[in-house]
Amino acid sequence: MKIGIMGGTFDPIHIGHLVAAETAREALGLDEVWFMPSHIPPHKAEAGFSGEERLHMVELAIGTQPAFRTLDIELRRGGVSYSADTMGELVAKYPHASFHFIVGTDMVNYLPKWERIEKLALLTRFAAVGRAGYKLDTSGLDALVAERIDHVDMPQLEISSTEIRDRLKKGVSARYLVPDNVYDYLRRSDAHAVHAPGTD
Ligand code: ATP
Ligand code: MG
Repeated sequence: MKIGIMGGTFDPIHIGHLVAAETAREALGLDEVWFMPSHIPPHKAEAGFSGEERLHMVELAIGTQPAFRTLDIELRRGGVSYSADTMGELVAKYPHASFHFIVGTDMVNYLPKWERIEKLALLTRFAAVGRAGYKLDTSGLDALVAERIDHVDMPQLEISSTEIRDRLKKGVSARYLVPDNVYDYLRRSDAHAVHAPGTD
């Protein structure tokens, strides 16, 4: 089994995440892609939506794609979510799977700063998907890590969760930037402060 791991905060999930996962699945012949919301991501400001809400929106978003699954391993573990810990657990649990960690170029450029990156690179390959505004730069990477990266071309979608949260705050529509059922959830959800009335 070739498994793609789509890690992220998904705060909230948007179509950029889905296209990245689908493009990597097809390009690398992945059997499944597992979407894995982090609990507390390293190097990131606090989340907007709760872990439960983020996971729920991921479930809504992947609903119709049979090759996509959610994985709540980091949410259940709690604390800061280090991919090296997570992949160690997954490799121990699924010793016959080969893992492909899907990352946008913004994150690839950040790999040298990831916690225990050399260990992580022994546990998984990386699928680098092009992200609008971030040119791939592997210059800071150890050669051992760099050779574990597969490059995947994807249609450039200049969308981020930050942009969606801003729109929700301002009452500007995020329709079509997120799947319809996520859009409906965001509109219905009164659980969160970023939900503004009248975001039609
Ligand atoms: P935020 O603005 O809150 O950081 P984000 O849109 O960057 O949110 P993340 O959850 O941080 O989303 O990203 C998860 C993964 O998806 C990362 O590897 C990121 O590079 C990738 N990704 C996110 N948006 C896109 C996009 N539009 N195109 C390609 N990859 C993307
Ligand atoms: Mg991000």
